[in-house]
Amino acid sequence: MSDIEQLVLQATTEFAGIGDAAALEQAKARYLGKSGSVTELLKSLGKLAPEERKSAGAAINSAKEQIEAALIARREGIRYAALEAQLKAEALDITLPGRGLSTSGLHPVTRTLERIEALFRSIGFDVADGPEIEDDFHNFTALNTPENHPARSMHDTFYLENAPGLLLRTHTSPIQVRYMETHKPPIRIIAPGRVYRVDSDATHSPMFHQVEGLWIDEDVSFADLKGVFTDFLRNFFEKPDLRTRFRPSFFPFTEPSAEIDMSCVFCDGNGCRVCSHTGWLEIAGSGMVHPNVLKHVGIDSEKYIGFAFGMGPDRLTMLRYGVNDLRLFFDGDLRFLSQFR
Ligand SMILES: [Zn+2]
Repeated sequence: MSDIEQLVLQATTEFAGIGDAAALEQAKARYLGKSGSVTELLKSLGKLAPEERKSAGAAINSAKEQIEAALIARREGIRYAALEAQLKAEALDITLPGRGLSTSGLHPVTRTLERIEALFRSIGFDVADGPEIEDDFHNFTALNTPENHPARSMHDTFYLENAPGLLLRTHTSPIQVRYMETHKPPIRIIAPGRVYRVDSDATHSPMFHQVEGLWIDEDVSFADLKGVFTDFLRNFFEKPDLRTRFRPSFFPFTEPSAEIDMSCVFCDGNGCRVCSHTGWLEIAGSGMVHPNVLKHVGIDSEKYIGFAFGMGPDRLTMLRYGVNDLRLFFDGDLRFLSQFR
C-alpha cells in the first residue's frame, strides 16, 4: 500500500469514528487544511522530477477527492443522527390513553331556580324579570315601606354612592311592581333573581336569591295561596305528604301576612337537629297584597285582590341537597360544585 493509499485509509477511518460536527471539522483541517497532510503532499509535487509529477499529481488529487467524499458522507451522517435524536426527544406517544373531556354542570342554585320556574309555569305562571339596580320608589315606596322603615337604613341596604336614589334591590318585589305597572290583571307571575343586603354569616350572604310569586285577579283568596304554595313545596321536594302551616306575621306590602313553615324534610316532622327538634322549617313569607300596593301601580283595589309570597331558593337548595353552609354556593370551589353535575 502506497503512502497515499495509507493516508486515504487513515482519513476515512478517522472520519468514521467521529460523532460530532466540530470534531469532524478539526479532523478535516488535519488533512485538507492549509497545512494538512494532503495539502503538504500537493506542495511536495514541485520537488518531483517533471516526468513523475503527472502521475503523482493524479494520485494525490484522487486521494483528495476520496477524503472529501468521506468527509461529506460523514457530515451527512452526523446531521442525520442529530435529527434522529431530536425527533426521538420530541416524539409524541400517541399510544397514551386520552385525558377525557371534563363535563360542565349547572350551579345548584341555578338548578333550583329552573326547577321552581318549571313547576310554576306548569300551573300557568309567567316568569318576570327586572333590574338589579333599582330606584327608591320601586324598591320601597311602591311596596308600602315608609320613609322611616329600618329596611331603608344604610345598615341593611347597599346604596349607590354617586347615584342618589339608586340602590341594589333588597328583594325581588320591585319586579312585581314593574310588572303591575305595565300589565293589567289577571296577573300570575313569579319573579326570580339576585338581591343584595348588608349581611354575611353562615346563613346570610350579601348577595343571595329570591323568588317571589304574585297572583292578582277578581277572586283570589288566602285559600288559593295555601293551595298553590303547599302544592309547590310537595312537588319541589317530591314529598306528597309534606305539610305546611301559616303563622300570622307582618310585612308592609301584604295584609294579612303570614310566615309559611313546612314539615321538616329530614325528619318528616318528628324533630331533628336541622329543624331544632321542632319538626318545622321556615320556608317563605306571604300574604294578601296590601291595597296600597295596588293603588301605587294603578290597579283598582276594590275590584282586584291577590296574594304574594317570597322565598329563598338558596335555602331551598340547601334543604334539597343537605348543604349546611350557604357560603359554599358562592365560594366557587369546584370540589363542592362538581358534586351537583
Ligand atoms: Zn327535622
